[in-house]
Amino acid sequence: MGLTVISGSGHRWRLTERIGSGAEGMVYAVEDPRPLVAKLVVRPPDRAAYRRRVERLVGQRREPRTVRLLAGSPVRVAWPMVPVRTAGDPGHRDQASGYVMRDMRQDFTPFVHLLSPAARVRVLPGATWATALAAAEALAVLLAELHAEGYVVGDLKPDNLWADGRGRVGVADVDSWQFTDGREVFPGRMRTPGYTAPERIGGTAPPDAASDDFVLAVLVHQLLMSGLHPFAGHPGDGGDYVSLDDNVLRGRCAVLDRTSVLLPRSAPPADLLPRRITELFRAAFGGKRPEAALWAERLAAERAPGRLAVCRVLPRHVHTVERPWCPWCDQKERGADSYPAVPAGEPDHTRGQPL
Ligand SMILES: [Zn+2]
Repeated sequence: MGLTVISGSGHRWRLTERIGSGAEGMVYAVEDPRPLVAKLVVRPPDRAAYRRRVERLVGQRREPRTVRLLAGSPVRVAWPMVPVRTAGDPGHRDQASGYVMRDMRQDFTPFVHLLSPAARVRVLPGATWATALAAAEALAVLLAELHAEGYVVGDLKPDNLWADGRGRVGVADVDSWQFTDGREVFPGRMRTPGYTAPERIGGTAPPDAASDDFVLAVLVHQLLMSGLHPFAGHPGDGGDYVSLDDNVLRGRCAVLDRTSVLLPRSAPPADLLPRRITELFRAAFGGKRPEAALWAERLAAERAPGRLAVCRVLPRHVHTVERPWCPWCDQKERGADSYPAVPAGEPDHTRGQPL
């Protein structure tokens, strides 16, 4: 396709293929022996402000707080490494700006693959409810660490997240985060329907750690309930379904009130959730939002030895010991199996794996 990006010091990367696109920009593979990709934004609302934002993030890469976030393997955050722009006339209206970052595909698969039974079987065939629990904990730990270092994600959503078959989680699109640099605040502007705290829906309120914590609860619910959004469902009072955000604003949520929404019979049974986790969902969606660190602690407790049981009929059915019989078999009887047996010929990573 012939596009080249260039860094401030003159290093050039040839773009090979487009591998992703979002509301703000596009991500391209680049020609480089290292696993790198380039994110480019063609027409940001304020190009100079966007470039300054990226430059500051690149500068923060060496700060102790960021070094802490980038420690460990695999690296969980696709931090901007080098600001780049497309080669050519810097004043041209179509000139794109962005940055080079680590290619998260090296270690992870898109997070959405954990949320759909069909994608799970295809991409992460060994994943069970134990994997969902591990991913929920990893996400809560990551968010707690980001918040402790003064960062706010702002546009937390499955599309910005990555996961692997062991339930490890990564995050990209760092350029949309809200952060401070010296005295300057770089506000988060982005929001996504279905992944916005009620106080930010329809308004201009900036994100904060508490609005991230609301979305964390949504994502944990989706992970533990096989993709089911906590505010999904037609209004139980017979009114028209408008959107997830409308349900959020009206408090229509099966965890808060089972009669507030109508869900398909084949939805995962609500009582598959451990009691202490249900308590956190009720607090999160009822207005007393638990912080990410508390989620991390409670989710870790549910993964402790002896807390998980394996179904006697289907070994991919893993559930909390609090429920005496298998919730996934109950769901299967009602027409859907969130964790079906791995088709013949697929590697089954569940065998021999300790819980
Ligand atoms: Zn079962």
